[in-house]
Amino acid sequence: MSVPYSNYIAARHCIIPLQMKPVLRAVGASGFVAVSILLLSWTTYFLQLNSTAYDFTLRLAGSVTPTSPIVIVAIDDESLYRNGAWPWSRVKLARLLDGIEAGGPRVIGMDLLLDEKKTEEEDNALAAAISKVPSIVLATRIISGNGVEHWLQPNAEFVQKQVALGHVHADPDFDGITRRIFSAKLAEGRVVQAFAAVTLRTAGLPGSAWEPRAGRVEVVRPQAFNIRFVGDNGSFKHVPAWKVLDGAVNPDEFTNQVVLIGFTAELSDLDQWFTPFAESGRKMSGVEIHANAIETLYKGRTIAEASDAAVFAGLFLVVMGLWWVDSRFEGRRFYAAAVLAGPAILALSWLLMKYGSMWLPFPPFWAAIVVVVPGLEVAKLVLVNRDLDRKIERLTVAAVYDRRIAGGHRPPLPSEARQKILTHLPAGSERDTWVTALDAYERESKSRDEHRENLFGTQRRNSRWKLDAVDFFSEELVRFLAFNNAILASIKDVIIVSDPAGRVVYQNPAATRLEGYRKGPPFAPDYFASLLDGRSFVTEFAGVMAKMEPVVMEFVPAKNARSFYNVVLSPIPGAGVVFSMHDATAQHELNQAKSDMVSLVSHELRTPLTSIRGYSDLLLKYDMVQEKGKAFLGTIIDESQRLNQLIQSFLDIAYIESGRQKITKSDFEMAPVFRDMLNAIGPVAAEKQIAIEMPAAGEMRVRADRLLLYQALMNLITNAIKYSPAGTTVRMGFSNGNDRVRFQVTDQGFGIPADETSRIFEKFYRRGNKETREQSGFGLGLAFVKEVAMRHGGDVVVESEVGKGSVFTLWIPN
Ligand code: ADP
Repeated sequence: MSVPYSNYIAARHCIIPLQMKPVLRAVGASGFVAVSILLLSWTTYFLQLNSTAYDFTLRLAGSVTPTSPIVIVAIDDESLYRNGAWPWSRVKLARLLDGIEAGGPRVIGMDLLLDEKKTEEEDNALAAAISKVPSIVLATRIISGNGVEHWLQPNAEFVQKQVALGHVHADPDFDGITRRIFSAKLAEGRVVQAFAAVTLRTAGLPGSAWEPRAGRVEVVRPQAFNIRFVGDNGSFKHVPAWKVLDGAVNPDEFTNQVVLIGFTAELSDLDQWFTPFAESGRKMSGVEIHANAIETLYKGRTIAEASDAAVFAGLFLVVMGLWWVDSRFEGRRFYAAAVLAGPAILALSWLLMKYGSMWLPFPPFWAAIVVVVPGLEVAKLVLVNRDLDRKIERLTVAAVYDRRIAGGHRPPLPSEARQKILTHLPAGSERDTWVTALDAYERESKSRDEHRENLFGTQRRNSRWKLDAVDFFSEELVRFLAFNNAILASIKDVIIVSDPAGRVVYQNPAATRLEGYRKGPPFAPDYFASLLDGRSFVTEFAGVMAKMEPVVMEFVPAKNARSFYNVVLSPIPGAGVVFSMHDATAQHELNQAKSDMVSLVSHELRTPLTSIRGYSDLLLKYDMVQEKGKAFLGTIIDESQRLNQLIQSFLDIAYIESGRQKITKSDFEMAPVFRDMLNAIGPVAAEKQIAIEMPAAGEMRVRADRLLLYQALMNLITNAIKYSPAGTTVRMGFSNGNDRVRFQVTDQGFGIPADETSRIFEKFYRRGNKETREQSGFGLGLAFVKEVAMRHGGDVVVESEVGKGSVFTLWIPN
């Protein structure tokens, strides 16, 4: 009881509704997990993981066909083989420029650092070639020396008016993989934009939003942008440099193209970098990376990264989602959802990368799943464990308490007791059987006691112990149920239990032996009726449920009219009604035999008594005895009259009780009956100076056995006169209503104490007070009244106050 109550208290004193609590707890825990994982994802190890995942997702998004007009003039291994090792003379580079320019490209981007001073002739040749190209971008790069960063610039004669400069600084991540470039770089107080951006702009092609706009002051903030690589090496059109030098290329190939000149020879490992697509361990040339960057800017497809806030929100939602799924679909469905959540997030990440050029790092989400799924399980385990502890604690307290009530340890069977039983059993098989049964019982209870002691005596209450305790309790419960069942089964009385709705929920084995037994009777009161003489039990059933008081009925005949049962309907609070039938046939037969016997004897006594009275009357009438004898005769006549009265009332009651007297009802008017009564008792009342009031004449129709009713009312009115002092009034009342006819006999007599009001209706019961002792009587009058009332389907009750008077009410159905 204490737990629901304390829950109730907790609920009342809490501002937050009870069902909100777990949600708030989950929100808090989800926030905590999201923040922790976010912080964790900033660690180097996690960054590495995220980078790998980034490459993986990018590769999963797949390669795309470049759409920007890019041609790479590649100084490849073949070119080096044919035209000699690097560095080439600037005259050769000048020829290369001329060869490309002949085709009329949009722009030429030279991804070669032209910072060193060579011979005058060489530099002049190249400067001349550069001057012939209207749109050209040259490369510059930052180097640091002595802790100072400065620009590595092309020679001054190359940086002509039409020449633009772009930085070619590679910024690979810590794992050596180039994923992004910087839009601009700052050194020596000078900002230089990225080679790719400058080339695109110089080519006059549309590009990303951060492209500088003419006429405005340009503030360039160096910022990294992630390249959307279109694929692995060789995704762009390559023209080997040697072909251009040998004139083996149609110059038209460069017309209107963005031509990038760069070093691609793999053997020398110069300007070669890993990219997310470098699956096979092949690096990508710097110039191709620039080509990818240009393509990215051209298409406006720089890969944006989901912000930390977005990742946090996502993590929070995923954790909350897992919690919700777990609380709704615990078990297999939850695991399935958790296992599917991983690929789902990967798929989302992939879709965003492929169609939205957006990077949503999935490893933190995977980490969240990996942490949260077992975490939820552990949390649940902890909760269940705590609850189990509490439950076992309660059961333990109950068990120990129960034990204490029962007097602690079961004492061993005292040897005297054992001896006593043994001496009453002669040696033989019966005795042996008993001894074996006793020993087995003692052994069993001892071992159970020991088990209990061991279990509750131990201090180390681990999970094993808890399971043992649960086993122990369920075993005890089963034993207890079996014990109760055995008791019910061994009872000879019929026990039938009905729920409050009248459905039979239990019948003991004795019930199955009854004639009319049914397995699943539809309505209990009807079933009871069918087991007995067919009388209705509906009113009794409802009455028991309503008043919560048992109803007892004696000697109810069974269906076969041979057996008789004492029937009790008792309420089980909140659970229904127990209907029990005790076989009282033997007792009924005995009672029957007794009253038969008494009637017989009474009858037999009457004949000699009539003779005694008759002869005494004769003796007196004809003056046949002397004066003295006359007095004796008077006594003999009086006493025989008394004896006759006794026999008469005895026979009356015995007769009506036996059930052999059929009541014969008729419709009649009460007024003449009252008149007869007044005539009969008037003289007695007058003698005692008691006034009698009868109902005023009028319509007073009654349906009853006229004779029996007359006798019963006479008994009541005679009593009223007998037990009232002189000078009082006795009133007979009559009323008719509510389907009942009521007769009320009111006196102003001695009254009856409350504890005796029900006893006075018993046979032979007389009160022991002085006023009663002074009156003659046998204690049978009221018993007769009761019997008459019951036989008519009515009853008689009394209300009384000692010293003030009594009211006897006899009612019968109308
Ligand atoms: P009897 O009158 O023969 O003794 P009854 O069965 O008629 O037997 O009554 C039983 C007892 O109830 C009486 O002995 C008497 O004590 C008491 N009693 C009955 N009627 C009254 C009454 N009207 N006032 C007081 N006591 C009464």
